[in-house]
Amino acid sequence: MGSYIAEYIWVDGTIPTEKLRSKSKIVKDDEELPLWGFDGSSTNQATADKSDCVLKPVFVCPDPIRGGNNKLVLCEVLLADLSPHPTNHRAELVEVAELYASHEALFGIEQEYTLFDGAKPLGWPDNGFPAPQGGYFCGVGADEVFGRPIVDRHMQACLDAELGIFGINAEVMPAQWEFQIGTLSPVEAADHLWVARWLLYRLTEDYGVNATLYPKPVKGDWNGAGAHTNFSTKEMRESFDYVIKACEALSERHELHIANYGDAIEERLTGRHETCSYKEFRYGVSDRGASVRIPWQVARNQKGYIEDRRPNANVDPYVVTRLMLETVCGAFERRSSAQPAHATAND
Ligand code: ADP
Ligand code: MN
Ligand code: MN
Ligand code: MN
Repeated sequence: MGSYIAEYIWVDGTIPTEKLRSKSKIVKDDEELPLWGFDGSSTNQATADKSDCVLKPVFVCPDPIRGGNNKLVLCEVLLADLSPHPTNHRAELVEVAELYASHEALFGIEQEYTLFDGAKPLGWPDNGFPAPQGGYFCGVGADEVFGRPIVDRHMQACLDAELGIFGINAEVMPAQWEFQIGTLSPVEAADHLWVARWLLYRLTEDYGVNATLYPKPVKGDWNGAGAHTNFSTKEMRESFDYVIKACEALSERHELHIANYGDAIEERLTGRHETCSYKEFRYGVSDRGASVRIPWQVARNQKGYIEDRRPNANVDPYVVTRLMLETVCGAFERRSSAQPAHATAND
């Protein structure tokens, strides 16, 4: 009987932005994936005197890098008593997703990132700057895009891992790229995005390049990096009224969302570079200067989804999906329960 390599992956407790960690375990073919442990004092998840944290496998997929029978194993972090660790935001999302399951929420997250070669973005000159932005977005040619072999390999790796990847594109700033995960259910979208991020970091190792999710990697007249979060519920996919209701619900909790949409969000949401200032909330059809965009085809079809453009590239997908469910599905439920009960013949 054979064995395979399981790469146990988890989200750590680094502040203000979590990092991914992983280590490898040999597992027998017929063995169930066991709980495992790690030294939480080395990941900002414990003190040295009570250092043991527990890894609980929650999402398993083929390992596209090692190939064969090997697996990637995304884990939740638990305390030694097997309750969720305070840094385990997935456990919170799972609860909220179950609470609002009847709304059949779907997410598609656009993950922007920037490739760095040492201290500068990949392909940038040693001194000074490349030509100003304008020709790079979805560009082609050695003077327009930097890192295509990495990006293509990452896309193929996501496919081989059976993740719900939607596509990729070169971004507005040279060396900046995007991949999209979804359309998927809330927990799947967030799990797949964390694994896709891990694959990105792991693959860029092979090129001596590093990928960063920092939201404003180059100061000045260069686009930041976001994680536009596309969202719909069953109601929104059937009626434009609910698309508008979702936008209105988000407008009522703007500050809460901004405070949880990734570190350094005020550096990126300046009101320039296709963003709306973090100080205001606006929504509109086709408006890439708004906080929330209603895509043109959604306005035309009078149903569909919305794009929350505020989340930073470094947002925790377990947090953004949970907040959107709480804010939008919570508002839908309050509105429907506030309406009078069905009229009866006696009324
Ligand atoms: P943009 O035009 O903003 O660059 P992209 O094409 O990069 O948009 O990404 C669109 C995302 O929207 C995809 O991830 C897709 O899965 C998602 N999406 C499409 N339809 C829906 C829907 N009904 N609900 C939620 N997400 C959706
Ligand atoms: Mn996009
Ligand atoms: Mn983009
Ligand atoms: Mn977008």
